[in-house]
Amino acid sequence: TDGLTRDQLALRARARELAQEAAAQAAETDRSGQYPWPMVKKMAEAGFTGLTIPREWGGPGGSVLDAVLVVEEFSKACAVCGRIAVEANMGAVGAVMAYGTEAQKKLAAGLVLAGDKPAICITEPEAGSAATEMATTAERRGDRWVINGRKTWITGGGVSRLHLIFARVMEDGAFKGIGGFLVVRDGEGRPEGLVVSRRIPSLGLCGMPEAELEFRELEVADDMVLRAPGGWQRGFGRLIDAYNGQRVGAATVALGLAAGAYEHAVGRANDRRQFGRPIAEFQGLGWMLADMSIEVEAARALVHRAARSAGPAGFPDRLAAAQAKVFASEMAIRVTNTALQVWGAAGYSRDNPMERYLRDARMFAIAGGTAQVLRNQVAEQILGRKLPQTRDGFLRVIAEEGA
Ligand code: FAD
Repeated sequence: TDGLTRDQLALRARARELAQEAAAQAAETDRSGQYPWPMVKKMAEAGFTGLTIPREWGGPGGSVLDAVLVVEEFSKACAVCGRIAVEANMGAVGAVMAYGTEAQKKLAAGLVLAGDKPAICITEPEAGSAATEMATTAERRGDRWVINGRKTWITGGGVSRLHLIFARVMEDGAFKGIGGFLVVRDGEGRPEGLVVSRRIPSLGLCGMPEAELEFRELEVADDMVLRAPGGWQRGFGRLIDAYNGQRVGAATVALGLAAGAYEHAVGRANDRRQFGRPIAEFQGLGWMLADMSIEVEAARALVHRAARSAGPAGFPDRLAAAQAKVFASEMAIRVTNTALQVWGAAGYSRDNPMERYLRDARMFAIAGGTAQVLRNQVAEQILGRKLPQTRDGFLRVIAEEGA
């Protein structure tokens, strides 16, 4: 039972049941590229969105591990549904529940409980891994903020309602730090200053829109600023801690994809006959399946460990989250690829889900911190030293440390 409680086993069983419906629509979602609204409605009704919302805000107060169990089951069946379960439980909503005002918490809780998948807007055309080099600005004008800039690869662009937008805070012409701003988009394209300018065609996870956004004089009231403790200077680091939850979520989708592909591979190896015997009897295949099972279990152990590191209302540990995400994301690419191999030509066909698993698995080593950037983070933490990546970064560390 992996040390799960009875409630957690029951929750997982419930998720597994609804995930069968998610599996039935996964191929169509992939082919059409349409966001799976009917499935989202069912997930929300069953309580799988907003699962981590505390009781005082109308949710069941589930833990990060609870959400992980649900996300894995949906991701085995339909990774787009798995990603929706991630964003509707971790990530932006986690940041709001940790740092938001009462009104902000009420707003975010209501949205995710109704099935919204909030969007996190960090990446820009010229600021990917170097996120703090973002150019989008938020300028104070009286009691309002005015945001101008462009974001790219925003998951859920065009379908998400709640947006957590990161921008350079400018007050009286001076740069104060990077801040987070909450904006709710309605179903009719308002506010007008938030423009979804293009959907980016992608390799996998095709039912989930990835979009370019433009902010044109986008006005945000001061009470929609998400203020983390430590002021503008330290606030970004705190807000980005919410990404540790999102990272564990992304690692879980990768885990689910691998576990789903692995199960299909075991089934196929037992069913398919060549040379007058089940192909499972060939040692070459048996060892491939054995390695896949070991990798999936190792990833699950890392993911659960990271999930358990989160306190009741907290975020998972940064190191544990990065370790889990690096391993699970790269493991999923290997395992889905091997699973396709076990299926032979049928695996290569779009008639079967194996090629979708492979395409869907490819992105987790890129989004939410690439595997290389996360290795830098792991190295920083195990070495206990800053490893700045800019050319002049070490000069600054030396100046700060006076060494
Ligand atoms: P680059 O930073 O240009 O990196 C290119 C290559 O250089 C990579 O291999 C990288 O690992 C390597 N590299 C860069 N710097 C270093 C370094 N210091 N050390 C070693 N190697 C390095 N962003 C959002 O804000 N919100 C979202 O919802 C969102 N969703 C996404 C969904 C998908 C499907 C994808 C693909 C991306 C998404 N992103 C999102 C963006 C994502 O976070 C970035 O793609 C990621 O941070 C990497 O930035 P980049 O793609 O510009 O790559």
